[in-house]
Amino acid sequence: MTLTVSVLGATGSIGRSTADLLDQHRDRFRVGAVAGGRDAAALARVARELGAGFAALADPEGGPALRDALAGSGIPCGAGPSAVIEAATRDADLVVAAVSGAAGLAPTSAAIRLGRTVALANKESLVCAGDAFMRDARRFGARILPMDSEHNALAQAIGEGRIDDVTRMTITASGGPFRTATREAIAAASAREAAAHPTWSMGMKINIDSATLMNKGLELIEAHHLFAVEAGRLDCVVHPQSIVHALVTWRDGAVTAGLYLPDMRVPIAHCLGLGARLGIARGRPLDLAATGSLTFERPDEARFPCLRIARAALAAGGAQPTVMNAANEIAVAAYIAGRIGFYDIAALVEDACEAFAARCPAAPADVEEALAIDAQVRRWSTDGLAARAG
Ligand code: NDP
Ligand code: MG
Repeated sequence: MTLTVSVLGATGSIGRSTADLLDQHRDRFRVGAVAGGRDAAALARVARELGAGFAALADPEGGPALRDALAGSGIPCGAGPSAVIEAATRDADLVVAAVSGAAGLAPTSAAIRLGRTVALANKESLVCAGDAFMRDARRFGARILPMDSEHNALAQAIGEGRIDDVTRMTITASGGPFRTATREAIAAASAREAAAHPTWSMGMKINIDSATLMNKGLELIEAHHLFAVEAGRLDCVVHPQSIVHALVTWRDGAVTAGLYLPDMRVPIAHCLGLGARLGIARGRPLDLAATGSLTFERPDEARFPCLRIARAALAAGGAQPTVMNAANEIAVAAYIAGRIGFYDIAALVEDACEAFAARCPAAPADVEEALAIDAQVRRWSTDGLAARAG
């Protein structure tokens, strides 16, 4: 049987790895739709390569360029947010949600509300509106498959086990490029240095989140929603080799770990397989003897305050994770643009969390409310940055 797969964020890092696997297993898959943000040429390329049934670009201005780039291919296309929603809601057996940031919320939510099976890379969906997403998934009968490596490893480690029997879920962090750097060196680091990830190859935003350890904070919140596990049972540990991605500790003290080389195609293949195992061409086998040693250490929240801030947002609940995510996106963009320093990211995020604690106490009731809070915090953070610069 051929499965129809749609890929949102098809031109990104996860999108390209997904396209690679879909291409390797052409006999198994048909591509329903692909969607991208601004790069019309890259989107047209992936649409042609995969023979997609539809291509959507989020940037409304990019329509003519996309049409030109697809000329003669017979692939219909559209531009603007409604075209991305169309891509997300076209008939499909599986929707890969791999848009980066809060821009992923609306299309992911549209797919879930149609009861689709969604392979979720876009962790921001669960951070911004986790309660609403999980409620919608239950209500509309949508399955959410975790594509983020740690959560995929958790799902594989849990297998048929009962969450009630799990006493601890631990996700690992590589520690990023500044794991052993001094606070002074980190404070002076440029975005280019911060983006040089030691083990994973990823998009720019998640690279910076990995350097600040905000990524691990976002992932603790993601795990809380995906597995309905409270903050007290969630932990993270630094593991520089990025081979053990997660550990599940059972009631009896036994631990089941999920291991593979740091190659996102492994968790992506697990999602695409829908229970079957897909081979990965050019994938390297894990050779533990060659690796030699696997090491683990506690994260240092003094040098990486974003992890502390994210844990606090998870513990506080309500709209704090939504606020934190929005402020973080603005701060990371400003850091990438060279407008603020590394530690200003944590400072801005913490200020936003404090400022909005009383203003937006309750968890967003739905995705629309989450997006409204997100927009408000983005404005507040952008104004704060402008005032600081002026
Ligand atoms: P990238 O920045 O590499 O790619 C983002 C993709 O989203 C691009 O295709 C981009 O297109 C597209 N896009 C941006 N805005 C929109 C929009 N409004 N509508 C449709 N498409 C849009 O990100 P990554 O692939 O690194 O990450 C994607 C998601 O997966 C993130 O949420 C990240 O946290 C998560 N993730 C990533 C991992 C990784 O290894 N990279 C690991 C685990 C999770 P364009 O380039 O044209 O703007
Ligand atoms: Mg991850």
